[in-house]
Amino acid sequence: MQLRTRALETILLEKGYIEPAAIDLLIETYEKKIGPRNGAQVVAKAWVDPKFRQWLFADGTAAVESLGFSGRSANHLVALENTPSVHNMVVCTLCSCYPWAVLGLPPLWYKSAPYRSRTVADPRGVLADFGVELPKDMEIRVWDSTAELRYLVVPMRPAGTEGWSEDNLADLVTRDSMIGTGLAKSPKDLK
Ligand code: FE
Repeated sequence: MQLRTRALETILLEKGYIEPAAIDLLIETYEKKIGPRNGAQVVAKAWVDPKFRQWLFADGTAAVESLGFSGRSANHLVALENTPSVHNMVVCTLCSCYPWAVLGLPPLWYKSAPYRSRTVADPRGVLADFGVELPKDMEIRVWDSTAELRYLVVPMRPAGTEGWSEDNLADLVTRDSMIGTGLAKSPKDLK
C-alpha cells in the first residue's frame, strides 16, 4: 500500500496535478490544528443550547459550520443522538470515511479490517473490547459512512454536570464517544 501510494504521488507530481507543499500543509493542519477538540465543542454546545441542538440534528453541516468548522469532510455531516434507549456507532465498511473537520484524523483502529467488519456483525462485542457495556435492552444503531455522508455521534450528557460551562463540558467529550465506541466521561473521571 505504501509503495502504491508513493507511486501514485510521483505520477501526480510529474503531471503537475498536486503541489507537494500544499499536501504537507493539509496533513499538518489535520494532524496539529484540527482534532477531536472541535467535535467536543460541538457536543458541549448541543448539551447546553437546545436551539443549537435542534439545528445540529436537522442540519449538521450548517450547525457545525456556524462554529467555524467546515471543509470537504464536513459536507453532509449528520449528527446522531444518543438517548437512554438508543446508542449510535459509526464505521466505514468500505474504507475509512470520517468527519475530519470535527474529529481530525481517524485513529488507526478505525481503518482496520476487524473494526470495519465486526462493528456491523457484532457491535456489542466491539463495544466490550472498548470496555463499554450497555444495558441489554438498549438499541445499538450502526451507521456506515461514505465519502459523501459522515456522522458525528452526540453522546449523552453525563449526570452531575448541571450548570457547567461549555468549556468544562467539552473536557468530558472524548473522541471515541463521538465515534460511538465510548461514552462521555463522568465528572469523577476528571479527578
Ligand atoms: Fe471510507
